[in-house]
Amino acid sequence: NATIAVRSLSKWYGSWRALRDISLDIAGGTCTVLCGPSGSGKSTLLRCLNGLEEWQQGEVAIGGVAVGYKARELRRLRRDVGMVFQHFNLFPHLTVLDNVTLAPRIVRGRRRGESEDHAMHLLERVGVAEHAGKLSSALSGGQQQRVAIARALAMQPHVLLFDEPTSALDPESVKEVLDVMIDLARSGTTMVVVTHEMGFARRVAGRVIFMDKGSIVETGAPDEFFDCP
Ligand code: ADP
Ligand code: ADP
Repeated sequence: NATIAVRSLSKWYGSWRALRDISLDIAGGTCTVLCGPSGSGKSTLLRCLNGLEEWQQGEVAIGGVAVGYKARELRRLRRDVGMVFQHFNLFPHLTVLDNVTLAPRIVRGRRRGESEDHAMHLLERVGVAEHAGKLSSALSGGQQQRVAIARALAMQPHVLLFDEPTSALDPESVKEVLDVMIDLARSGTTMVVVTHEMGFARRVAGRVIFMDKGSIVETGAPDEFFDCP
């Protein structure tokens, strides 16, 4: 009973085949790292899992429910699958707190007070509670990415997808964000992470999936990939 089940998924951009017959099961409470060269289809696969891309062949199910493209199915998917992007995608003209409470209030119909209490708890967890009242654009990159993680968690998704969450950050910020991701993984959050941070993969991932040219070419425990002591 996998949280994410992908069966024979293929996707073309015009005549270019970006995903070739991908099949994959991701169990609840596990952290999976997706790696592989640029252009191998990692980002496309994540975007199929959260309804940002349509595909031509195959099936995806999240929490046992088949993913489809009717408005109601997409609304459900946006609720059940959280996404953290390389470039944060926060609303710069909103405060940190409003960025985190916006979706729960609009999509889930939560009251302001209730959603703010939950948001403050999440902002504390990711270490940026003291900045809750500032405009998100006033924060450093590492702080903004931690806000983006809190925003994704605020929807209480079944799974969190990360698309190169540290690639746009300076080294100090990379560490801040990885520390939060390590904490999430260790506390049993279901996560799929596209990253080039092989230290993270080695220490935290339950499974590493290696993609090339739109296919899964290797999958295994991190110690099968990294034979460091
Ligand atoms: P990133 O993941 O870096 O934010 P994108 O997801 O937008 O970038 O694009 C990933 C890759 O797909 C890049 O190599 C980009 O050149 C290519 N790409 C994106 N959109 C298009 C498009 N409309 N037509 C052709 N190639 C595209
Ligand atoms: P990765 O995340 O592994 O770098 P992507 O999933 O971004 O790879 O891209 C896979 C392939 O699909 C690349 O060849 C890329 O150029 C192409 N691609 C990605 N997005 C688009 C798009 N919107 N239109 C056309 N081609 C795209």
